[in-house]
Amino acid sequence: MTAPWLRELGSLLRGERTEGAPLAPRTSIRIGGPADLLVRPADAGDLVALLAACRRMGVPWFALGGGANLLVADRGIRGAVVRLPPGFGEESARDDLLVLSAGAPSSHLVATAQAAGFTGAEFAAGIPGTLGGLAAMNAGTRGGEMKDLLTRVEIATADGLGWVEARDLSLGYRQSRIPALGLCTRIEVRLGRGDLAAAREAMRADLAKRRATQPLAEPTFGSTFRNPPGDHAGRLIEAVRLKGHAIGGAMWSTVHANFVVNRGGATAADVLALVNLARSRVKAEHGVLLEPEVRLAGEFLAEERIEAL
Ligand SMILES: Cc1cc2nc3c(=O)[nH]c(=O)nc-3n(C[C@H](O)[C@H](O)[C@H](O)COP(=O)(O)OP(=O)(O)OC[C@H]3O[C@@H](n4cnc5c(N)ncnc54)[C@H](O)[C@@H]3O)c2cc1C
Repeated sequence: MTAPWLRELGSLLRGERTEGAPLAPRTSIRIGGPADLLVRPADAGDLVALLAACRRMGVPWFALGGGANLLVADRGIRGAVVRLPPGFGEESARDDLLVLSAGAPSSHLVATAQAAGFTGAEFAAGIPGTLGGLAAMNAGTRGGEMKDLLTRVEIATADGLGWVEARDLSLGYRQSRIPALGLCTRIEVRLGRGDLAAAREAMRADLAKRRATQPLAEPTFGSTFRNPPGDHAGRLIEAVRLKGHAIGGAMWSTVHANFVVNRGGATAADVLALVNLARSRVKAEHGVLLEPEVRLAGEFLAEERIEAL
């Protein structure tokens, strides 16, 4: 029988909605159970009405971007999972400021910037995900991070839409306050006027380097752990002899030891077992506590967790 909240949300929403939507195909590592309800809001009004109804009925909601940094529980995510369509919200360009839809892929930022003759966004070319997800994670590479570009983001909550200045987002190493503030619907970035040809060349070199050093053809969620100060998580995982080590369908990549690869049929429980093994060995043998960069989402059992060390 359909839960009353699902019926009520179903009758209220104008956008696309799917009950029991499988989430594994919506994550880059292809793991995870279903969402009770997956929603693609039609417009800002639809989104705010959804968030308000969730608040009124005590239904949790989760902002899903491209799923490129997520480990979704095998039991899936309870409540509403919201995924913005790529063209959500109006885009604009004024001087060196671009306003872009948070539902658009990272390639949209790079392509729009270059088409307008701007530089500074090239680092985002090799980072999979949506612009909302890139802002929420303050995603970046050695070539730059979102913090360098963001001036403000538009956030939707149950009370409506509003812009929040970048300085109020606590943008740090692969983190921000964005998911806690609400759902990011648009981002505003400030770009520069540099040597476009040189920037394109640097971007191509970075992409080639990634292809050679990361398992890009396989299902992964990118880096599992943040790099500890002055070191690399991949080096430490290799040092504790786990490069290529598998549990169930999940394996520490033989190409880049900080990437977990889904070899086929991996579960979130397999991935957590790998994560806990690496953390405990690295702590025991090197005295370093690895902190996860990947975000966990959904209904994990009490024993399915990142163990406290
Ligand atoms: C092959 C590969 C390479 C990668 N390389 C890099 C890299 O070089 N640098 C790097 O930083 N990352 C890298 N990543 C990780 C990933 O690409 C980034 O973290 C990216 O920012 C994730 O964006 P997403 O849209 O997929 O977010 P998701 O994975 O869907 O979500 C991540 C978090 O952001 C939140 N979120 C997503 N969208 C919104 C929104 N609209 N509003 C509010 N919160 C939101 C989610 O709730 C969640 O907490 C890599 C991943 C892969 C698979």
